[in-house]
Order: sequence, then C-alpha cells, then structure tokens
Amino acid sequence: MKKIFLFMTIFTYMAVASGYSSSISHISTDIKKRMIKGKSWKRGCPVGLKDLRYLKMSYKDFNGKTRKGEMIVHKDVAKGVTQIFEELYDMDYPIYKMRLVSDYRGSDWQSIEAGNTSALNCRSITGNSKKWSNHAYGKAIDINPIENPYISRKGHISHKASHKYRKRVHNSSRGAGDKAMLLKNDRATQIFEDFGWNWGGDWRSIKDYQHFEYKKKKTYKKAKSTDNSNLF
Ligand SMILES: [Zn+2]
Repeated sequence: MKKIFLFMTIFTYMAVASGYSSSISHISTDIKKRMIKGKSWKRGCPVGLKDLRYLKMSYKDFNGKTRKGEMIVHKDVAKGVTQIFEELYDMDYPIYKMRLVSDYRGSDWQSIEAGNTSALNCRSITGNSKKWSNHAYGKAIDINPIENPYISRKGHISHKASHKYRKRVHNSSRGAGDKAMLLKNDRATQIFEDFGWNWGGDWRSIKDYQHFEYKKKKTYKKAKSTDNSNLF
C-alpha cells in the first residue's frame, strides 16, 4: 500500500512538472517600455496596445526541456494561440527560443538569426515599405525560423544556418532540428491550419516556411494558394 501511494505521489508530481501552462495578460507598463525601447511597437502602429496581449507559454526546447516563452499577439487570436502551443507542447514539437522581438531591437533579421519564434513586430512587409506586415497586427507568427527559412522568388536564403534546411525532406539524423522543420503534412503544420491559420509554405512564388498568419476559417478554406506573396 505504501508503495502504491509513493508511486502515485511521484506520478502526480511528474504530471505537474511536465505539464503545459500559459497565461494571457494585457500589456503592462513594463512590457510597453520594453516594446518601445526595443523598437517592436510605437505610436502610429496599426494596432494599439489595448488590443494586444502578452502571452507566457510553456514550450519544449531542443533538448526536450520545458521552458517558459513569451509572445505578443492580437487579442482576437490570444486564446487560440495558447491552445496551438499547448498542442505543440503535447506532441513534443521542439522550439529553439521564444522571446519578444524587442529583445532584438525590433530587427527581424537578428531575431531570425537567433532562431527566435515570435509574433508581433510593427514592421512593413519584406520588400514593400508601404504596407504593414501581418506581424504588425499581431496576427502572424514565425516558428523556428532557422529550420524553416524564407526562400525568395530567386531561391535566396539570407541566413547561413538555414541552408541545410533548403531541401524540405525530413532527415532524422539532424535530431531536434529535423523535428522543428515544418512540412506540409506534418502534425505541427496541421495544428495551425486547424485553428484557421494560413501557412507561408503553401505560397507559390516565394516560400516562407516559418510563417503562419491568421485567417478566419471560412476565408481560409476558400483562399487556396494563389500568389500570396504580398501578405507576409
Ligand atoms: Zn512571418
């Protein structure tokens, strides 16, 4: 009897210790300061701070260790995003890093170079300074950007570490890096799509394998991949 009790105690403890947790908060004064100082948001951005939410979410790193990440998204998608990351957590999908883009002074390039998974960044579309990116609305998320590179129309990849992930075929000898790579029929990709997010890996002329952006489900079903290269 004692043995059973001990076993149950350990089991309960492990379930708590390895379980997923998340929180959704309004943008606090401290976070606002970080965002402004870190150039990820300023007055004049298309979405005001009151419509953004600060998320803390568990994730598993490349060593399988549970960590807490942070992310800022639009309030309309906040709950769904915490559910997506719960599913990713439960399936042991590894995430290299999850920090605010303001930690990289709002630089998309630096954030990618660091392998950072992130959402809000008040910036224009890559290659078109006149249009806001969906990241500026907090309705786009980039996942493991080194393993899931942006590949230009001409086939250019700007981050050296991404070159070995140009060929989109799983290769388990790469370990966590391979698990992080998103392919069309992968469970991780499907989870986002199930929650109504479009995937940049479906675009025709350019490929943005790290990029998911929110579309209402109905719109998503109708919008088959024509050339969506003006959306990222
Ligand atoms: Zn993106």
